[in-house]
Amino acid sequence: IVCKLQSSGLLRSQAFIGGKWTDAYDGKTVKVFNPATGDLITEVPCMGTKETNDAISSAYDAFRAWSKLTAAERSRILRKWYDLLMAHKEDLAQLITLEQGKPLKDSTGEVAYGASYIEYYAEEGKRAYGDIIPAPLPDRRLFILKQPVGVVGAITPWNFPLAMITRKVGPALACGCTIVVKPSEFTPLAALAAAELSVRAGIPPGVLNVIMGDAPAIGEALLASTQVRQITFTGSTAVGKKLMAGSAPTVKKVSLELGGNAPCIVFDDADVDVAVKGALAAKFRNTGQTCVCANRIFVQEGIYEKFADAFTKGVQKLKIGEGFGEGVVLGPLINDAALHKVETFVEDAISKGAKVLLGGKRHSLGRTFYEPSVIANVTGEMSLAREEIFGPVAALLPFKTEEEVIQRANDTNAGLAAYVFTENMQRSWRVTEALEYGIVGVNEGLVNTEVAPFGGVKQSGLGREGSKYGMEEYMEMKYVCLGNL
Ligand code: ADP
Repeated sequence: IVCKLQSSGLLRSQAFIGGKWTDAYDGKTVKVFNPATGDLITEVPCMGTKETNDAISSAYDAFRAWSKLTAAERSRILRKWYDLLMAHKEDLAQLITLEQGKPLKDSTGEVAYGASYIEYYAEEGKRAYGDIIPAPLPDRRLFILKQPVGVVGAITPWNFPLAMITRKVGPALACGCTIVVKPSEFTPLAALAAAELSVRAGIPPGVLNVIMGDAPAIGEALLASTQVRQITFTGSTAVGKKLMAGSAPTVKKVSLELGGNAPCIVFDDADVDVAVKGALAAKFRNTGQTCVCANRIFVQEGIYEKFADAFTKGVQKLKIGEGFGEGVVLGPLINDAALHKVETFVEDAISKGAKVLLGGKRHSLGRTFYEPSVIANVTGEMSLAREEIFGPVAALLPFKTEEEVIQRANDTNAGLAAYVFTENMQRSWRVTEALEYGIVGVNEGLVNTEVAPFGGVKQSGLGREGSKYGMEEYMEMKYVCLGNL
């Protein structure tokens, strides 16, 4: 596979600055491993302050011409990039499975999902409408112009190596911004392949730059620069807070997609089959490694046994293995630290009285594979319920009343996604409105789409990605007053 990807030109081992494939100035590299096998895939440059500053300069220089193109001109180029991403769906999917570990079918899904943001914003860029405001005086006319913010710094995580990038790059480029992207050092290869395809699509040098290496140094350089007008980040809440604080001295715009602690609430009046299917999808997508994964599955007493039984049977059927294996739906965890965290959480729950219905230990496949697990009788004191699990472990928490479960569901600093399963329409509205979350899935466990706004409230983030709202993040409004008419 590696050879094939190399010959297609999509396996790149250099960073991309100002339209040039570039090594770190001191020649340092970071190794990229396949998490399923531990095999070395390639090495990429380990860059720092100097390279970041050069990438920022390239983006700054490119901004002038890129922002001056008409929306239709940018749209045509982005559409071509989308077509190329889709034309290379298989290769890109293989690359994602190699570096991230997810099953090939999911990687293929990620390519389509990731590319959809480029397609969507290629279209949406043409609709960056301003406003005309009725003037308070007869000799005046008031206008609102929408203009691109300028150079954007984007920092992205490893769980969706392609989609987390296109979600930011799509809207930024569509409205005329230029961008410096720093993907996760665990998974830089999909980003580099996308950059290669951007060249073939005709995206001009400097408009899209991809660098990686020393994350804190790159982050600091992006924050320190007065040319970078916006920081967009997806990742942990801790790093998000640092970036927000670091944006203060230069007063940058900030968009953050941070951690979640999604409640998935199954009421007595739910359709059990729908709830089981939805909870399985919401919990086990990407082996539990998404920020919208159902972290706390609250189940009402009357349906608890029945749900737990059907859900556990569903989990038993999930095939785990190397992402390229036939029929595999769950992959490894990204690294040892992730495995250790999941292990510690489960041990903590057991020591506090939780009951293992399935799994509860490392998988015999070794490495970073963890058994698909169901842990029952979880309480709010356990780490499983307090923190993001980010692994294939489902935590079941019994509850009695609607009022109680709303209070418990909201008892967290996170506020990204929530799921509700009920056949009662009044209840579905009541609960949806009471949940302090940015996204609610009602009788549905998979809610992501480029046409809807994704984002959280409370400490889960700022701003939205996707939909028409996602482009607002990358635009400033300018009020123009035309007087003395
Ligand atoms: P995760 O748990 O998803 O890996 P992180 O927040 O650690 O979350 O990582 C998300 C992204 O943030 C990655 O690209 C990572 O390299 C980057 N990152 C980590 N620490 C810093 C930092 N101090 N400054 C800037 N970026 C950082």
